[in-house]
Amino acid sequence: MARFTLPRDIYHGKGCLEELKNLKGKKAILVVGGGSMKRQGFLDKAVNYLKEAGMEVQLFEGVEPDPSVETVMKGAKVMQEFQPDWIVAMGGGSPIDAAKAMWAFYEYPDTTFEDLITPFSFPELRQKAKFAAIPSTSGTATEVTAFSVITDYSKGIKYPLADFNITPDVAIVDSELVEGLPAKQVAYTGMDALTHAIEAYVSTLNCAFTDPLAIQAIEMVFDYLPASYNGNMEARAQMHNAQCLAGMAFSNALLGIVHSMAHKTGAAFSTGHITHGLANAMYLPYVIKYNAKDPVAAKRYAEIARKVGLAGASEQSLINSLCEKINEFNVKLNIPATLKDFGIKEDEFKEKIATISENAVGDACTGSNPRAIDPAAMEKLFTCIYYGTEVDF
Ligand code: FE
Repeated sequence: MARFTLPRDIYHGKGCLEELKNLKGKKAILVVGGGSMKRQGFLDKAVNYLKEAGMEVQLFEGVEPDPSVETVMKGAKVMQEFQPDWIVAMGGGSPIDAAKAMWAFYEYPDTTFEDLITPFSFPELRQKAKFAAIPSTSGTATEVTAFSVITDYSKGIKYPLADFNITPDVAIVDSELVEGLPAKQVAYTGMDALTHAIEAYVSTLNCAFTDPLAIQAIEMVFDYLPASYNGNMEARAQMHNAQCLAGMAFSNALLGIVHSMAHKTGAAFSTGHITHGLANAMYLPYVIKYNAKDPVAAKRYAEIARKVGLAGASEQSLINSLCEKINEFNVKLNIPATLKDFGIKEDEFKEKIATISENAVGDACTGSNPRAIDPAAMEKLFTCIYYGTEVDF
């Protein structure tokens, strides 16, 4: 048995934020981040649309990047007092992720993070409120996924929450909200979306429902990401849809070790944070080479290449074309090819890589990767990525 879950309604296209005025309810809480939505006027617009819908509106502002347990609890308490029947979250991944967790604690005040951390074990939501998500970046696709990541800073733990109960009811994918994104963010989030789609396509949980979404997303990223990076707003609108399609695929098919590796290296080195999408972009071609030693995965990668029109007469040459295409994109988007080029110091890499490799193998995304990996192989893979050497094991 497999399950495929998406929001009931996905509005897309420029200006579709307006759909907020058609929500049916009495009270809406609007959860936002640090202020970019306010500065660009989208917060006021959203509030006005919700008022037009006849709702009383309360704001919860200031959700930080990598939202904390404290913020979630604070938001849940505000919700318990206000009793909204709509939770509307707008912004980058963080306010939407935070609001998903607030939702659980609003409906079940006595639950704990420990109760929620077991994947797919949430209590039944929608007893008090429904959830609408409005993304202002083009990558995480949290507006359509069953995932949320909350950080417990006191314990130094990230809680990756996963349950179809937190897949939003409504996603509003309005490209106007991403027109002001800085080019770097366009590049990194775009490559994150590409990684979501490729990992979903080769995941052990891929299926006929997720495959077309993944392929369509990959094709659109190849067609539109460079132009979007260079400021073409039509291409940027296409990328906003592409990342959402990728999200629909990976929310149901899950991911693989590119994400395991990005999760465990993001904050691991003293030379600075490795942004999620940049880490994915760097690791992806190496992981394809590693996974493609598995015949089933090799067939799937070759299928991707063939379906998006890359050249190659044999399975191996199609896989090579796919890796070359990704490398070519990384060059165009100013993404380094190795961890060394990124600026990680060699002695620090050598000192930490055994522990990082062990942690990456233990990441929640490793389970659906098409080829098994142990800490020793993971360390070899990371070493290839550090020096830019061929993956031949
Ligand atoms: Fe990602």
